[in-house]
Amino acid sequence: MIDFRSDTVTRPSKAMRDAMHNAPVGDDVYGDDPSVNELEAYARKRFDFDAALYCSSGTQANLLALMAHCERGDEYICGQNAHNYKFEGGGAAVLGSIQPQPIENEKDGSLCFNKVAAAIKPNDCHFANTRLLSLENTIGGKVLPLEYLAQARDFVDTHNLALHLDGARAFNAAVDLNVDITAITKHFDSVSICLSKGLGAPIGSLLLGSPALIDKARRWRKVLGGGMRQAGMLAAAGQYALEHNVNRLQDDHANARYLAQKLNKLSGFTVDMSNTTNMVYATYSSSINIEELAQALKLQGILFSPSKQLRLVTHLDITREDIDTFLNALAAHI
Ligand SMILES: *Cc1c(COP(=O)(O)O)cnc(C)c1O
Repeated sequence: MIDFRSDTVTRPSKAMRDAMHNAPVGDDVYGDDPSVNELEAYARKRFDFDAALYCSSGTQANLLALMAHCERGDEYICGQNAHNYKFEGGGAAVLGSIQPQPIENEKDGSLCFNKVAAAIKPNDCHFANTRLLSLENTIGGKVLPLEYLAQARDFVDTHNLALHLDGARAFNAAVDLNVDITAITKHFDSVSICLSKGLGAPIGSLLLGSPALIDKARRWRKVLGGGMRQAGMLAAAGQYALEHNVNRLQDDHANARYLAQKLNKLSGFTVDMSNTTNMVYATYSSSINIEELAQALKLQGILFSPSKQLRLVTHLDITREDIDTFLNALAAHI
């Protein structure tokens, strides 16, 4: 299948599977898994943080960050479109007794600091304690500018908040900006990174932070049922992903750009050309029956989500030829 639904659909390559097969393992809850320990040590260096934690998913890494930064009755400010507000089942409230304070995202995915400042609660028993600002990069395939991240750091320092990055796709941002990942992550007190999206690992995320923060997160990880035992086989896949699959994200971005340009020329489709990473967003004319189109293309081995606004995602299992196959199939059906 040619699968545009998400970059989570990638499957581990032969070389990644070999790395998993050969990984030395132990019981990670006892701190005994050499491959998990190696990945966490590698991550500390790569991201220039003092502590790292291997987590089962990005949702878990974000939740652990929120629960490590905030206590019961605290709140975090984030975007209305933030994954850790909108797409994580309300976990911070459900499991952490932490109140989200969402702010409308600007068109470029950023949060306006004046609006954030207005949402910070005074120290008064009527209100939750505002503790944390959480940003997302990339967000909807858009890259937040480095200057904006520096401004965010200044902002939280002024207002005595902590700063978290949902960096599920932070490497896509770094590759797009042609900077080292630390140019992005250095502004934050904690960062979550997905190994199982464009980087191509089957499972796993990282949480970076200070030793004190990661100690708390490690405890909550166990409480939430995320203490995995011989997790080294999975960690080895993550390590392989970090060592081999970062630079190639530029291929996904180039493929997305190619897809965007061609799709925008097809009658009935309008593409948001401002995205520079691996996500193509398009609207379509009301004459197109999107459900029917999705069904027809599925029979030809092409998958996409027939949503109101199309989101087509490129990744390491999609080639330039696959995109041509998709465009030709599309053109034949409309
Ligand atoms: C996918 C994603 C997550 C969550 O990752 P899972 O591993 O699917 O739980 C968090 N944040 C963003 C921005 C994501 O895209």
